[in-house]
Amino acid sequence: MTNFKNQVLETFTKYAQIESGSDFKSETTPSTQSQVEFAKILKADLELLGLKEIKLSSTCHLTAKLPANIEGKHPVIGFLAHMDTYPEGTIGRKVQVCLHPNYKGGDLTINKERGIILKPSVAPALSKCIGHDLITSAGDTLLGADDKAGIAIIMEMLKYLISNPEIKHGDIKIAFTPDEEIARGPDNFDVPAFAADFAYTLDGECGDGIAYENFNAATLNIDIKGVQAHPGQAKGIMENPVRILADIISRWPENKLAETTEGREGFLTFTESKADFATASASVMVRSFEEKELRAMIAEMEDILVDIRKKYPGSEIDLKTTYTYKNMRPVIDKDPRAVKLAKEAFEECGLCADGAPIRGGTDGARLTYMGLITPNLDAGYATPHGPFEWASLDQMSKIINALVCICQKTVEREP
Ligand SMILES: [Zn+2]
Repeated sequence: MTNFKNQVLETFTKYAQIESGSDFKSETTPSTQSQVEFAKILKADLELLGLKEIKLSSTCHLTAKLPANIEGKHPVIGFLAHMDTYPEGTIGRKVQVCLHPNYKGGDLTINKERGIILKPSVAPALSKCIGHDLITSAGDTLLGADDKAGIAIIMEMLKYLISNPEIKHGDIKIAFTPDEEIARGPDNFDVPAFAADFAYTLDGECGDGIAYENFNAATLNIDIKGVQAHPGQAKGIMENPVRILADIISRWPENKLAETTEGREGFLTFTESKADFATASASVMVRSFEEKELRAMIAEMEDILVDIRKKYPGSEIDLKTTYTYKNMRPVIDKDPRAVKLAKEAFEECGLCADGAPIRGGTDGARLTYMGLITPNLDAGYATPHGPFEWASLDQMSKIINALVCICQKTVEREP
């Protein structure tokens, strides 16, 4: 196993200092100009490494190819990471990367003066990193290791493969993508042009292994038009949308909510509501690992509304269902090559290979349904989206070894 800690720290630090937050409110593609500037720097670095077919699209998708150094037909593997960092936490500020060598366990002081202390109780992965060299920000920004750790890992893998040509590999495709944090990552990603047989996103948390199972997701929109009347003369006439909506919300079973479920359990949760005398509306999030359970929950909500319509016959109560993303597992089960290779490589490199199901979606889930099977791999960071974000250099180093191992294994066996 090669020790990449110094190199990956240097590469990560360089990228962490470049501001590239995305923006929920922006309507442009990509959502911020800073991502374009960051992409240009990455493009120059890929050019310096001598990669081929380097392309920065107008939608800020940066792709490149490391050509095979062996004859024959082998699967083309893609490695992806996202360039944006979480919208809140860095914009207009520079990230300072702080090194905490040889973590001894217990509290990790991120900023002594300001009393910013990372406690193992909020970061359980810390307990698996005793003896590791950890990095954090100075506590006044996020670290941005989500997902610049992923980018640094991919860059170091490329450098290593290029400087060790005796390691044989097939065609390797790289993609750095924008706007993952605002859920627009796979929009405009050209799967046919990328032309990989399968790919990996490097965007998982430290110790989370290989994740290839995520939620199925739907959004429900409920719209209510009530019956208005003067409150003083409303008896027997008024059907108040404020109450109708409250009635609907209160009928949903308490044991099927976001705040009462975990692990493999699905849920339905109200995310927004508006109501007055005339109309009411609500947005509802439905999530389940099983499509059958997802549809059963939606049917249960439909049944509630059938009942509600009987109780308020003068009102109009509509339900619109939009399916947003799907669990990638059924597709992966049909072509498990990517997961099998990664599991073997992770185990050989002393990494946890089993990933817990993701209680959310990933870019890879959408890409999988766009035709590119893309499980998600550990990228060595944890506690993202805030000043407590940290990453393990030891973990990142092992992951670089594992990626090299994946590339090797791909050409060692039949396509
Ligand atoms: Zn991420």
